[in-house]
Amino acid sequence: MRIDLHTHSSVSDGTESPAELVAAAVASGLDVLALCDHDTFDGLAEATAAGARLGVAVLHGIEVSTQRHGHSVHVLGYGCRQDDEALQAELAHVRAGRSGRVPAMLANLARFGMPVPPEVLARQVGDSPSVGRPHVADAMVELGYVADRREAFDSWLGDDKPIFVGRYAAPLGRALDLIKAAGGVAVIAHPWGRMSRDQLTPGLLADLAAAGRLDGVEVDHQDHDEATRAELRALADRLGLLATGSSDYHGVGKLDHDLGCNTTDPDVLGEIRRRVAGRGGRLDGSDAAAV
Ligand code: AMP
Ligand code: ZN
Ligand code: FE
Ligand code: FE
Repeated sequence: MRIDLHTHSSVSDGTESPAELVAAAVASGLDVLALCDHDTFDGLAEATAAGARLGVAVLHGIEVSTQRHGHSVHVLGYGCRQDDEALQAELAHVRAGRSGRVPAMLANLARFGMPVPPEVLARQVGDSPSVGRPHVADAMVELGYVADRREAFDSWLGDDKPIFVGRYAAPLGRALDLIKAAGGVAVIAHPWGRMSRDQLTPGLLADLAAAGRLDGVEVDHQDHDEATRAELRALADRLGLLATGSSDYHGVGKLDHDLGCNTTDPDVLGEIRRRVAGRGGRLDGSDAAAV
């Protein structure tokens, strides 16, 4: 049983439509796929329908943009009730922040001699409700300013680079509580990856675990080297946190890793299912049908 618990579609900053993503999961030999687009549930209906057609279990996820002391932390929510009003309001706030910073980023690009006409960016964003820096990167590639997303981030768009503009993100604790209150299971994505390592100390993770606010941490992720994975897995074991694994796939040719390059233990998914059921959440189409 091969389970990939964190992937993206073109409904946020992935490059494949939800149905194309599910087809790619079949080709990669996955049995279970969670779609976790940034700050939106909009791709889940299409992905679930494709999963039913193609024989892949599609789990309902989201990756929420949060922050602690101004540092970005990504939180995966599994099985949230998508109509939960408090969660929806917070997500709308985050998406508004995403759209709201676009003019300032375009102004920065122009200042550095790389004008991006709004229609070029709009074409990259497509109908995604969740505009991200990868869309800006793709516009820069289209205009020949950089070779690929990686160069765009490394030279221009990264958090400490000249084009970057900050945006609203949900306070970490608030996001965890909203996910749980919506029936979901909260797992911190790539906690010791490039963005959040200094913030997410063992002490903080211990406090969140002890308070019952956090369910798990993503251990097997490309941003974690082997030593980091071993250290984080041992910490998760000690704290009683679930340890997940995923590809964080964003589409072909966008980041150097394939669907299913990291996977989650079936027993861990079983525990996620139990918790979602206990909280009245909905992890997939069959849960929704049962409600
Ligand atoms: P944003 O959501 O606009 O803050 O942009 C951050 C997103 O860009 C992350 O969630 C990743 O999907 C992507 N990203 C971050 N760093 C890189 C990178 N070095 N290369 C490509 N994509 C990246
Ligand atoms: Zn992304
Ligand atoms: Fe992330
Ligand atoms: Fe992600």
